[in-house]
Amino acid sequence: MRVIAIKVMIGLEVHCQLNTQSKLFCSCEAYPQNAKPNESVCEVCLGYPGAKPVLNKKAIDHVVGIGIAMGCKINSETYFSRKTYFYPDMPKNFQITQYEVPIASEGTIEVNSSKIRIRRVHLEEDPARIIYANGSLETTSYVLIDYNRAGVPLAEIVTEPDIGSPKDARAFLEKLSAILEYLKAYDQSTGASLRVDANISIEGGERVEIKNVTGFENVEKALNYEIVRQQNLVRLGRKVERETRHFDEVAKTTLPLRKKEFEEDYGYIFDPDLPVLKISAEWITRIREKMPDLPDKIAARLADEYGLGAYDAKIIVYTGSDFATFFEKVCKIHNKPVEVSRWMINYLLKSLNWRSERLSQSKVTPETFAEFLDMIDKGKVNERYAKELIKEYVDTGDKPSEIVERAGSPPTHDEMERTVKNVLKENVKAVSELKAGRLEAKQYLIGMVLKETRNRGDPKAIARMISEELKMPL
Ligand SMILES: [Zn+2]
Repeated sequence: MRVIAIKVMIGLEVHCQLNTQSKLFCSCEAYPQNAKPNESVCEVCLGYPGAKPVLNKKAIDHVVGIGIAMGCKINSETYFSRKTYFYPDMPKNFQITQYEVPIASEGTIEVNSSKIRIRRVHLEEDPARIIYANGSLETTSYVLIDYNRAGVPLAEIVTEPDIGSPKDARAFLEKLSAILEYLKAYDQSTGASLRVDANISIEGGERVEIKNVTGFENVEKALNYEIVRQQNLVRLGRKVERETRHFDEVAKTTLPLRKKEFEEDYGYIFDPDLPVLKISAEWITRIREKMPDLPDKIAARLADEYGLGAYDAKIIVYTGSDFATFFEKVCKIHNKPVEVSRWMINYLLKSLNWRSERLSQSKVTPETFAEFLDMIDKGKVNERYAKELIKEYVDTGDKPSEIVERAGSPPTHDEMERTVKNVLKENVKAVSELKAGRLEAKQYLIGMVLKETRNRGDPKAIARMISEELKMPL
């Protein structure tokens, strides 16, 4: 098959549920923990006739902060508009959003050394959550609606179509979510989420929008699927039509939702219940002064202060602010930053990912992790056993020294010798290969001994015993 290099243009619209106590226009809790569906609601977020919205200032602070972080212009006068549509997730039959003038506009985020322009950042209310009761959007026979989500503040961040590949789209989203997290505008631990609409066009084709994709990996997959689908249409001499599609997470394909849809179709009108929003220079200054350091700056500091490689420092920072804080806390107790970073990135992160857990939700503490590293450092556990130990440690949160004690004492010298003899007897082929000079066979035999001792032996001592036993040089 001939591969044709084709120009791809991707733009993203990211909806971030903002970190506030209450909803955007009422005092209902935005992220009620353990609430039943439709418990965190009132006449405002249920759209009762005559109920009046009152704006949550904290949400504006967040959007201004996001704008500043991306180098946007902050508009001193902005408005709220009603976006009219009829759908059960919005009981008022309109969504309060910002159309004409957003709070922030014209910023940039740099990803893989290309600049992605940010067209706008505006504030709007989240619609209710629709639950496909028995199946997916395509197959369910009825839906359930949870209005707890109706009225939760959303920042909508819209890029220009500057992203050139699905991979860069994913990198952009990872960077954006880290920035939002460090700004404390977004806090996953409350249950807040980021939802993405992606639009993509290939040279000569119309723009296709993929709605509401959750998970950055899924965004990348949906976009990859679209490129192939659109290229195939072009190859067959057919047109790529402007449409909105939906990503089926199970089938990993996109399916048509609706044809041609333009912003003008929504019949925006100014919301008469909300006054013009004036953002003064003092307001902007106040937020600018409180701005925390952003991920790239923190990564540069970690690299500089702790002597980490730039790549490792970025992984630590972009894994999350909890991860970066943890790193610094561990270094205060166990002052070997490169080792701390190596074990955190290669093994701690892997064990957490395996459990689909964030560090802040886990039972791991800086004190116990420092103890774990200290045990490796002092030779109380070998690296191989440590890699086993860390799994149990992350699972239980128990002190590593207690886990080791529970596992019983490591084999004695005599026990080790017996194990080595048995392994050599049972692996005749490997032994003859080793005698013929194949050194991989030795690694294999060491591995077999360690398997018998549940990784409790010292690989160097085992290597010595094997050589002695076979009367070979070390
Ligand atoms: Zn409410």
